[in-house]
Amino acid sequence: MHADIEKAFDLSARVAVVTGAASGIGRQAAITLAQAGALVILADIDAVGLAETAAQVRATGGKAAIRQTDVSDRDAVEALTAYAVETGGRLDVWANIAGVILTAPIVDATEAQIDRVLDINLKGTYWGCAAAARVMTAQGSGSIINISSAGADFPAPGLSIYAMSKAAVAMLTRILAHEVGPQGVRANAIAPGFIDTPMVTYRMRGPDGAIDQKMRADLLAARAQGSVLGLTGEPTDIAYAILYLACDASRFVTGQVIRPNGGVAMP
Ligand code: NAP
Repeated sequence: MHADIEKAFDLSARVAVVTGAASGIGRQAAITLAQAGALVILADIDAVGLAETAAQVRATGGKAAIRQTDVSDRDAVEALTAYAVETGGRLDVWANIAGVILTAPIVDATEAQIDRVLDINLKGTYWGCAAAARVMTAQGSGSIINISSAGADFPAPGLSIYAMSKAAVAMLTRILAHEVGPQGVRANAIAPGFIDTPMVTYRMRGPDGAIDQKMRADLLAARAQGSVLGLTGEPTDIAYAILYLACDASRFVTGQVIRPNGGVAMP
């Protein structure tokens, strides 16, 4: 590979916080950012999953530190930020990936269900943006990456609360880009299509709660059919987009929503 390309994608000596790092897209993002040279600070509510991700990062020669964090807890997110700066000496990348999904028809959704999804997906991302932006604007550089969803691009029955949270994340990202751009900080969002992770297994479980292989195959086939490429996504499809937004290759990109979704939505 040419040295210019290596330099543009190099994250050596950079520090990256990844929330949702215990599973799925967040785990793969942490591995990928570490493979590009970053020290990754792994944050998630799931301590066991975090330890597994750290082991996988280190197994591929990467550097990782762990901080168990509930992103819906503003003080915990502030403490995560302080831990990242204390551990790495700076803060270059913050990826807000932690999230939950819920399906409920609007007529049935409870206030507790709405609060939980908004507290994690929207307010958790908001607290992460605010905490990261404070450090990065003082530093004069940094990249904040949020996770929206293809679910925010088209109305899927049953997904109102989730889609509302992800549509709001896209607008939050644009406004943040305006507020922090003059200080050298970028903010972008990624809106994944269907990605095969633990989050989507709720659609594959039979009455006994176990994954039903026929349901799994049917769901994957149906989702692939909705893609103009005939594909479903893998966590690396999102992790590579995150890598692009994290590194200097994307120095001219801010306020954007990038859509690795197999072509299911082209707004
Ligand atoms: P995942 O495998 O379920 O990973 C999400 C992680 O976030 C889990 O480790 C989860 O822990 C953690 N988490 C939940 N609540 C948290 C909290 N309060 N504080 C900290 N961590 C918390 O899901 P994924 O598919 O990788 O999703 C990652 C992101 O991509 C999410 O924002 C999701 O909405 C978005 N996304 C996913 C898809 C898809 O098709 N998979 C498509 C579009 C967007 P627990 O497991 O303990 O809850």
